[in-house]
Amino acid sequence: MSPRLRHLTTLENLPRETIERLLDRAEALRDACAHGTRKLDVLAGRTVLNLFFEPSTRTRTSFELAARRLGADVINFDLGFSSTSKGEELFDTLHTLEAMHLDAIVVRHKLSGTPDELVRHAMSGVSVINAGDGNRAHPTQGLLDVLTIRQHRPDFDNLTVLICGDIKHSRVARSDIHALHTLGIRQIRLCGPAALMPAAEEFPHCRLFDDFDAAIEGVDAVIMLRLQKERMVAIDLPDEAAYFARYGLDQRRLARAGKGCLVMHPGPINRGIEIAPDVADGAQSRILEQVGNGVFVRMAVLNEVLAR
Ligand code: ASP
Repeated sequence: MSPRLRHLTTLENLPRETIERLLDRAEALRDACAHGTRKLDVLAGRTVLNLFFEPSTRTRTSFELAARRLGADVINFDLGFSSTSKGEELFDTLHTLEAMHLDAIVVRHKLSGTPDELVRHAMSGVSVINAGDGNRAHPTQGLLDVLTIRQHRPDFDNLTVLICGDIKHSRVARSDIHALHTLGIRQIRLCGPAALMPAAEEFPHCRLFDDFDAAIEGVDAVIMLRLQKERMVAIDLPDEAAYFARYGLDQRRLARAGKGCLVMHPGPINRGIEIAPDVADGAQSRILEQVGNGVFVRMAVLNEVLAR
């Protein structure tokens, strides 16, 4: 059996067995808590700190719900857009909070690598969970995305998944690619304007496209991404209407995908920029299922790192 995780900062290089264990546990906990209507006490007496240096809606609230549903106490330390950054200030904050006795820190930060720095500086016994660092990793999003796909299409070795949009700045894309690849997906396609694509060497096993109509042909799932302007430096982008015309998911394009193609998006959605409203709200949309699965996946991760 692969060893229990003490921290979760990335899905890169996690064994397939560990990823599958977390997905199976997410489903087991979903059933045990009767889809959230029953509270469990497996983490009673443990304290989870949400330390968010960047804004968040879904991730923060679902970590909070996940911890509470397992019986843990939660502290929210919301720094929003504050100027606190890497360096002394961050570690001072960490040690101050640790002095109040914590079991896990859920951290989001604009600088890639911050969760690993916390792992190096955190007191022993404190687990660190990455809730998104820069453009590097968003492991619980990666897990909830593959769980959502698995629930509809467990035949991964038959599936083609397309990720479209601002891949260069997306930690979600990176964690999705790592998870999908480890789970043996048949093909991963990436599509976006050249300025928003990763270097080809970063993902040698993915097929890169710049023509969305060609990329979506026959795919089983399409994951749309928002333009992450907060991470862009001097990039010349087409205006929103021109972007939608080339890289927006509308019904015409969706009709080119495989039958029953799953439509996914990590949120927040920008309707009319990367996705048409009737597709986001349409019968093939799995976007709200992703949100629901986010709570169960985060319960599984907290349970993994905090189990005694
Ligand atoms: N919510 C996701 C993230 O934090 C995706 C996004 O912001 O576009 O990375």
